[in-house]
Amino acid sequence: MAVERTFAIIKPDAVKKKVAGQILARIEASGLEILAMKKIQLSEQGAKGFYAVHKARPFFADLVQFMTSGPVVALVLEGEGAIKKWRDLMGPTNSQQAPKGTLRGDFGTDVEQNATHGSDAPETARLEISYFFNASEICAVTEALPA
Ligand code: GDP
Repeated sequence: MAVERTFAIIKPDAVKKKVAGQILARIEASGLEILAMKKIQLSEQGAKGFYAVHKARPFFADLVQFMTSGPVVALVLEGEGAIKKWRDLMGPTNSQQAPKGTLRGDFGTDVEQNATHGSDAPETARLEISYFFNASEICAVTEALPA
């Protein structure tokens, strides 16, 4: 399987609940490598741009309100089949339907407040990574340094 990069967000609900650390621990335990990470407060314009694909949906205004309701943690993840692997770890969109053991099942609340975001395809991943990170902020060195 090809090594891929994907883009992830720990959403405001999970940051507020203080489970960002648990989510990061699950990422590390999964074998996905964290290449970049930052905690930021999205502006209204930033959230609207990120979710532009959903701008005609009835929930768009609510989604923007939610995503700007507090800080998020943005991440670049890398690994074999990283896009699907991360989406499998997250579980389905609706936290009420997400199985226990998935991030959305364990840490989300409903179809909107679902703890995490993950890119759905390689092209989306590239776009989303570049929306949040400059090339110089992405650490491509993955081997542990000798003690
Ligand atoms: P994802 O790829 O699993 O995140 O799902 P989508 O791309 O379809 O939706 C993007 C985000 O919009 C979801 O993660 C939810 O936070 C939110 N969302 C999706 N569907 C609904 C909905 O029916 N109502 C509301 N309020 N939010 C939704």
